[in-house]
Amino acid sequence: MTSGGRFPLIYIAGSGHSGSTLLEMFVSGAEGHVGLGEIFQLVDRRNPIVDNLDGHLCSCGTGVADCVFWKPVIARLSDIPRDDENARYRALGEAVATHFGPGTVMVDSSKTPEGLERAIASGAFDIKVLHLVRDVRSWLVSMQKSYRRNGVASWAENRKRAGLAKGTAKYLLRHPMADARQWQRLNTRVEEIVKRNGLPVLPVSYERLCFDTASVKGEIEAFIDAPIADYGTPGARADNHSIFGNRMRFEPEKLQTIRYDNGWFHDTTWLLPFVLSPGLRQLNSRLGQGRKVS
Ligand SMILES: [Zn+2]
Repeated sequence: MTSGGRFPLIYIAGSGHSGSTLLEMFVSGAEGHVGLGEIFQLVDRRNPIVDNLDGHLCSCGTGVADCVFWKPVIARLSDIPRDDENARYRALGEAVATHFGPGTVMVDSSKTPEGLERAIASGAFDIKVLHLVRDVRSWLVSMQKSYRRNGVASWAENRKRAGLAKGTAKYLLRHPMADARQWQRLNTRVEEIVKRNGLPVLPVSYERLCFDTASVKGEIEAFIDAPIADYGTPGARADNHSIFGNRMRFEPEKLQTIRYDNGWFHDTTWLLPFVLSPGLRQLNSRLGQGRKVS
């Protein structure tokens, strides 16, 4: 804990499908840092998940409800009234300090602007933000891919599942034009929150993380003021307890060969919103540089 009674926290902000699990595993390799996953889900008063963790796995390989770190934490959180998010955040900070040692930095990959605002509002943390941005063209293609995987990409599929009116509305919400607006809104909101609260922030481009890993590593190390050990080396933390992220958190060895999905090179899903919105192109270009341009 720091002198102001606050716990250090790194918040990975950005939109889903942007490589946040990869970035979390990367940062968790830093001395004194521990990856905890999407912890806003445990704190959010509207989310009942804390009372039903069956089937949810921790990255340490056990169920969240049985994990050596999370088990006592969950018991503690269950005793705090659901409305008292601030107390839940503080309990988490205390648990991390107790289990991993005072001053341990928790890495929270909750991503959403809302989760960031609530962590700030709790007053329990000294927060640094890694604003992760995946190129909107690549992101839009990835979103459509995930809709296809889940059988909700086409108008017909949506109508079949939800009827004509609801299905049409859902289809339109999943259209690349709507997704592009969502990407723009979300990233703009992250920037606003960071600015309003005067938080230290490092923009991280997912593309640069993949293609220029060494430079990005150096920038992150300077920002968090700690060296990042490579996966598998003695300095790398072996006991992260990351929850609710994607499956990759069980496979840290993937950090050794980061693979970039270049599907958008030959899939033009992104073309229409990209051409039609100069604001989107501008934001994409600015954030894509991945670091503060003074
Ligand atoms: Zn665990």
